[in-house]
Amino acid sequence: MYDFLIVGSGLYGAVLAYEATKRGKSILVIEKRNHIGGNIYCENVNGINVHKYGAHIFHTNNKNVWDYIGQFAKFNRYTNSPIANYNGEVYNLPFNMNTFHQMWGVITPQEAMNIIEKQKADYKTENPSNLEQQAINLVGVDIYEKLVKGYTEKQWGRKCDELPPFIIKRLPVRFTYDNNYFNDMYQGIPIGGYTKIIEKLLEGIEVRLETDFLSDRENYESMAEKVIYTGAIDAYYDYCYGKLEYRTVYFETQELPVENYQGNAVVNYTDSETPYTRIIEHKHFEYGTEPTTVISKEYPKEWQEGDEPYYPVNNEKNQELYSKYADLAAKNDKVLFGGRLGEYKYYDMDKVIESALNTVSVIFK
Ligand SMILES: Cc1cc2nc3c(=O)[nH]c(=O)nc-3n(C[C@H](O)[C@H](O)[C@H](O)COP(=O)(O)OP(=O)(O)OC[C@H]3O[C@@H](n4cnc5c(N)ncnc54)[C@H](O)[C@@H]3O)c2cc1C
Repeated sequence: MYDFLIVGSGLYGAVLAYEATKRGKSILVIEKRNHIGGNIYCENVNGINVHKYGAHIFHTNNKNVWDYIGQFAKFNRYTNSPIANYNGEVYNLPFNMNTFHQMWGVITPQEAMNIIEKQKADYKTENPSNLEQQAINLVGVDIYEKLVKGYTEKQWGRKCDELPPFIIKRLPVRFTYDNNYFNDMYQGIPIGGYTKIIEKLLEGIEVRLETDFLSDRENYESMAEKVIYTGAIDAYYDYCYGKLEYRTVYFETQELPVENYQGNAVVNYTDSETPYTRIIEHKHFEYGTEPTTVISKEYPKEWQEGDEPYYPVNNEKNQELYSKYADLAAKNDKVLFGGRLGEYKYYDMDKVIESALNTVSVIFK
């Protein structure tokens, strides 16, 4: 008998396991994949830490979270500065003075503002009824055509004039020469990859891999006083109210015999013809100098059963469904649901840590 059974060895489960162990509790972690770490898992390929489930950049404004994660890894100074490739034209992202200089040759913020304001006025739609009109209202036609349209259409698998306007509430435009994608105070990549963080969190804790809780749930539940479940909440309840929806991405990963393929970790392909949305070159997250490189092309894909459930689709229909499952969960004294699948919530890593530490303070108050 264990004090806690933790289902899932992702960041949420691992923080819970670490904190409970620190408080003298006995823990069993079960994980259905053949490795620990959930979606932050990095696979080492000839010295390069490949972000197997998509590029992960740690960024936060929360000093407590930054200090907390800093106990388990040293972070480098990586700053996310993606590049956009539109039919061979290269632009800095996020939209800033470098982008505007590349697009129009302007030098001063006032010149850039004048162009954007003129385009917004020329093409303004009073009550935008689709994403295209909304985006043009926000940034004008040039930025929309070259940097928003193709990328968004590939991401959603639909034309921008068929997508609802509310998907894009804001398109941040910066009138400084600043390519730093995030505004957060702290950001970086853990030197040596994310898996090392999970290894440290789970050090000395019993972990059983390739073990699916749902295949023998009664047995596993009987093994512990309490269960922390970080899998999909609808799956736990046998989809009794129906299935929650996700968006997913298919990654095509290749090792190439060149030292430097694209000169940047993240390059977005913003035209409509290129079938993928981004290419990630993993070594640049850690300033790698290996003789070869590994790249991943990202193809957005409609989620179907069996695909990785990456991004919860938090629209009205799914939120309503989720709240039914959440009501069942609230009545369940034995099982606590947490993390991105357990709470059906898009959580960045810092928010997952915050949420896991909040749960710890509730359990051990
Ligand atoms: C493509 C992508 C890119 C991202 N990029 C960033 C980024 O740049 N920066 C950032 O801060 N965040 C990013 N995130 C978010 C980040 O991945 C999450 O915050 C974090 O991984 C969530 O941790 P978790 O433990 O809640 O979930 P997960 O990592 O999903 O862990 C859940 C674990 O539970 C296991 N499990 C599920 N069901 C069962 C079962 N029945 N039995 C046993 N085990 C089970 C799963 O196999 C998995 O290992 C990104 C997410 C995605 C999908």
